[in-house]
Amino acid sequence: MSSMHPLAPLAGARANAPPPPSVHPPAIDNFASLGKKPEMSANTFVPLAAENAFFGHAHQHEHASAPSGLHIRHDFCLEEVLCLHNLPLMDLVFRAMSTHRAVFGSGHRVQLCSLLSIKTGGCPEDCAYCTQSVHHGGAQNVQKLMSLEEVLCAAREAKEVGATRFCMGAAWREVREGAQFESVLEMIRAVRALGLEVCCTLGMLTAAQARRLKEAGLHAYNHNLDTSAEFYSNIVSTHTYEERLQTLAHVREAGIHVCCGGILGLGESVEDRCKMLLTLANQPQHPESVPINALMALAGTPLEGRPRVDAFEMLRAVAVARILMPTAKIRMAAGRQAMSLEAQALCMLAGANSLFFCERLLTAPNSPAEVDLALLAKLGATPMGNEA
Ligand code: SAM
Ligand code: SF4
Repeated sequence: MSSMHPLAPLAGARANAPPPPSVHPPAIDNFASLGKKPEMSANTFVPLAAENAFFGHAHQHEHASAPSGLHIRHDFCLEEVLCLHNLPLMDLVFRAMSTHRAVFGSGHRVQLCSLLSIKTGGCPEDCAYCTQSVHHGGAQNVQKLMSLEEVLCAAREAKEVGATRFCMGAAWREVREGAQFESVLEMIRAVRALGLEVCCTLGMLTAAQARRLKEAGLHAYNHNLDTSAEFYSNIVSTHTYEERLQTLAHVREAGIHVCCGGILGLGESVEDRCKMLLTLANQPQHPESVPINALMALAGTPLEGRPRVDAFEMLRAVAVARILMPTAKIRMAAGRQAMSLEAQALCMLAGANSLFFCERLLTAPNSPAEVDLALLAKLGATPMGNEA
């Protein structure tokens, strides 16, 4: 029986490619040749430090920091991102996977996040995908702010099944000062005391509110850009992209981690998707979490009946997000339950390392916890600890 050198398949793949620039592995250049069209062909040798990526990291890293040599950029142009997005799929996935390994090491660690709607429906905003909007049926199913006990009960259950991050969502346009905000601050303190990483999504925030959330122990704030600035007005008319960016700036200034991503399948173009990822990657600091949602075309919303997003489109978006924002946690979020386990595994291969892990998203169904745990076990992937 012949024993194969572990690099043999890579060496084979490079048979027609120019030799690497030196005997020593080159620095990890996850953006190599982006935007230089003549070099972007299916046969191009992508000068990633494959050797580093495969052998350089014996340990798994939970909390990402960029290894020396990995290029973290904030100055992308659209052409680069489009070139990356449109690479032959295997080349794109190889780059994404190599970037992931360079940052997080071998094996695969996945953050398990649980989500709870603490105040449901009746939202005055008109986001076209959302059933909680009063404009599309969300007035019929309004539930007032949950009690602290109800929230703690859900948080304990989430922790018991293995979640390390607990995200609380309220269907508000913006946070208002007063008793409800004080209750949310109390919830944050109490959930944090359980040893969970706490995230909230409460709508728009002022700088002062962001500081109070930070003081209460909030780890992360979710506020998605959802799509490109240009396409945004097709989806929402009651607030602007600029207002979203303003809230994100307040979150960042307060020292809270940013969780910000988007949705595929709203009717946007590939260019819109790339523009959204470009906007995220060109922030002065990359978001620590980037949820990638596939539209759930829910009944009663203006987007009802829209075709489902192809799993390969998800794969491309995940891979591009991983390459542009190497240290972020890339989360498979809404729409995951409609993907096959194999497609989800492919997305993890391309760098997805965070899941919404709960039977319900804010209002929509999600993949059951035992199915997710069985998938991780099959892949030999392990849940991450938390940073709180
Ligand atoms: N109200 C908060 C806000 O506006 O930021 C957040 C709540 S919203 C339910 C959280 C995110 O879930 C949205 O920004 C969107 O990206 C995603 N989402 C909501 N409904 C969705 C759907 N039907 N399909 C896919 N993603 C969805
Ligand atoms: Fe309201 Fe958020 Fe739904 Fe928009 S996404 S309608 S802001 S709950």
